[in-house]
Amino acid sequence: MTETTETTELTKLTELTKITELTELTELTKMTELICVVCPKGCRLRYDEANGFAVSGNLCQRGEEYGRAELQNPTRVITSTVRVAGGTHSRCPVKTERPIPKDKIMDAMRLLGGLWLTAPVPEGHTVVEDICGTGICFITTRGIAPAEEGG
Ligand code: SF4
Repeated sequence: MTETTETTELTKLTELTKITELTELTELTKMTELICVVCPKGCRLRYDEANGFAVSGNLCQRGEEYGRAELQNPTRVITSTVRVAGGTHSRCPVKTERPIPKDKIMDAMRLLGGLWLTAPVPEGHTVVEDICGTGICFITTRGIAPAEEGG
């Protein structure tokens, strides 16, 4: 084998190694890692997207369910506050009654921006119905009593 042939073979081998490494890296990136937040144990979950989101690292079934939902349809319970007129507090805490899709969060927050409630405000009161067509409401999480006259 001449020196030129050896160099060519070496170049091909190097290229092949690079391609193999790149393929392995691509395969690796199909694995998604998440920390399960369902309980304080905080298991490190790994999901293999290439294999139907097969899960590993979970100590219980709840972790598997959490991760699948988080990867395929992430949702969040939104908490915020709304302005109150004539109450003992100027703002009332609210939250979505159930988790809403993560991509609707900004639109949902905008719905609260221009709202005013008038005291008294009961706890569990519906503030916004059917947030962005989700069928889910914003509700108050505490009651606000009216401010005392002249107080
Ligand atoms: S997988 Fe189960 S045990 Fe682990 S953090 Fe999630 S809920 Fe807790």
